[in-house]
Amino acid sequence: MGDIAHLRSLLGEHTDFPKKGIVFLDIFPILRDPVAFETLITHFVHHLTSVTIPQHGKRIDVIVGLDARGFLLGPIIALRLGAAFVPVRKQGKLPGVCKSAVYEKEYGSDVFEMQADAIKPGSNVVVVDDLIATGGSASAAGDLIKQQGGITLEYLFVIGLKFLNGKSKLDAAAYSMIEVDD
Ligand code: 5GP
Repeated sequence: MGDIAHLRSLLGEHTDFPKKGIVFLDIFPILRDPVAFETLITHFVHHLTSVTIPQHGKRIDVIVGLDARGFLLGPIIALRLGAAFVPVRKQGKLPGVCKSAVYEKEYGSDVFEMQADAIKPGSNVVVVDDLIATGGSASAAGDLIKQQGGITLEYLFVIGLKFLNGKSKLDAAAYSMIEVDD
């Protein structure tokens, strides 16, 4: 079995979580397996260094991680690249002056925030999260990056729910390590 097929086989599937009708895909079994977790991080870092950076001819200055599972992946990827890590959090969780963006998600609407001085204008940014469904949360993160004058080079996800076409909402290319078709 290839590395990605192995990571896919580790994903948990939880029917009717967090509410009826939703099949929740769980990345935590990957994080419980140190070799699988290392494979996942190395895959992302390899993608960024061998595809994203050469394609754009730019360094990556900032990795933005989305609340909450983007916080588990983003800082590790940032350290490997020598980039900054910046969190996007649900409203009211970050101290100081914040920028905000409203978004609709698979189960309700919400507000995302980023600290107002977190990204310098002209910075090259990559957004990381565990999963893209409708694309609402990632597109709100893109909005926050734009509000600060940052340039989003790419959006990275462990899982992409292809049938929801969330990538069409985004202002830059998106890469999902595992594409789920139905
Ligand atoms: P979107 O904004 O693209 O509709 O939803 C993506 C957000 O919801 C991500 O932050 C993701 O963590 C969360 N999410 C929605 N469905 C799932 C799921 O099935 N599994 C996981 N792990 N996260 C989900």
